[in-house]
Amino acid sequence: MALNPFEMATKQLENAAAKLKLDKGILKVLSQPERALEVSVPVVMDDGRIEVFSGYRVQYSSVRGPCKGGIRYHQDVTIDEVKALAAWMTWKCAVVNIPYGGGKGGIKVDPFKMSEAEIRRMTRRFTVMILPLIGPEKDIPAPDVNTGPATMDWMMDTVSMFKGYCAPGVVTGKSIELGGSLGRKEATGRGVMICTLELLKRLKKEPEKTTVAVQGYGNVGSISATLLAEQGCKIMGVSDVSTGFYNPNGLNIKEINKYVETSKNRLLKGYNAKGAEEITNEQLLTLDVDVLVPAALEGVITEKIARKIKAKIISEGANGPTTPDADKILLENGVIVIPDILANAGGVVCSYFEWVQDLQSFFWDEDEVNRRLENVMSKSFNEVWSFAKEKKVDMRNGAMMLAVQKVATALQKRGIFP
Ligand code: GLU
Repeated sequence: MALNPFEMATKQLENAAAKLKLDKGILKVLSQPERALEVSVPVVMDDGRIEVFSGYRVQYSSVRGPCKGGIRYHQDVTIDEVKALAAWMTWKCAVVNIPYGGGKGGIKVDPFKMSEAEIRRMTRRFTVMILPLIGPEKDIPAPDVNTGPATMDWMMDTVSMFKGYCAPGVVTGKSIELGGSLGRKEATGRGVMICTLELLKRLKKEPEKTTVAVQGYGNVGSISATLLAEQGCKIMGVSDVSTGFYNPNGLNIKEINKYVETSKNRLLKGYNAKGAEEITNEQLLTLDVDVLVPAALEGVITEKIARKIKAKIISEGANGPTTPDADKILLENGVIVIPDILANAGGVVCSYFEWVQDLQSFFWDEDEVNRRLENVMSKSFNEVWSFAKEKKVDMRNGAMMLAVQKVATALQKRGIFP
């Protein structure tokens, strides 16, 4: 049976709540989203046919600030997946201490089967359908799987048309020309790199002597691989939905990046280099490397896969890649997992910087963005690491406990209205 991501997220919350001895009533409040909206999105396709897609926006928590989280376009999107992703955004924003709650949105659609004009019309219609929920002070969408700056630009323009003025603060991850932040595109991968290096430092392992495998070669995977390679790590394997590649002497990441710039749908399929052997996604996950970076979708590291994992470090670029049962096995086997809500938080931290810059109409240079990102990420890593050591828990439970405690305290101080 396919795994339900919301059950996974709830299980992680319950584990942290039990360790914190959290009040039962507070746990009840934190176990459900505040608000969930389901919309139908009709689109006139290029051939004149009308298609209707299901879309969602979930506001999991606004206790610590406006809801924040991406919009995903994928054929497997369900309301429970969006709820889980919105919950993880809540804990993520709390663990890195940015003043946001958590939200997430998605449309159940395969965007690779659509033209750009169809995607644009779908995006604009979806934006209008969720218009009552979003705004710079209430809920701020951003890119996620299969969405990017162009999607955010259309959303920003659509909201601006309805408002009658330019409203850049309503979404983050926009093009630079429309109020996007320098460094935002690279920020999630940069955060993965920073966290991985922080852990290597604590394990007294040099990046030059570290081998890595990366699952998923979209924004997060490709930039994580690129930045880790720049730090001296050897990238032994990469994969995406189309295929995977392995080279025991290390892959040429620059060459792969060049290939996907012009390949069909930016996929790895068709890449051909001497010494690189084609492998499956399962082979990628179980490669004999030091660090595994799952940077695709949730639930890929199951119990069965966890037993075969040889990496000693997992840096979760994706949201929810490891199931709670797999977590137990990894812990038993001494694998250190840098949890998603910490490892991939660089994206939303930089989104926060973008929103601040938009609201102030005052923009920072890229060095300043990267310096601030590095500060937030290494400080958060250190907090989670020290807390986990002190409480004798793994990093997932440590990060979740810190995050849940912060949201719970804010909730208790606000009180239950009325
Ligand atoms: N979609 C990204 C995430 O899962 C970024 C969210 C944001 O920037 O708001 O963290």
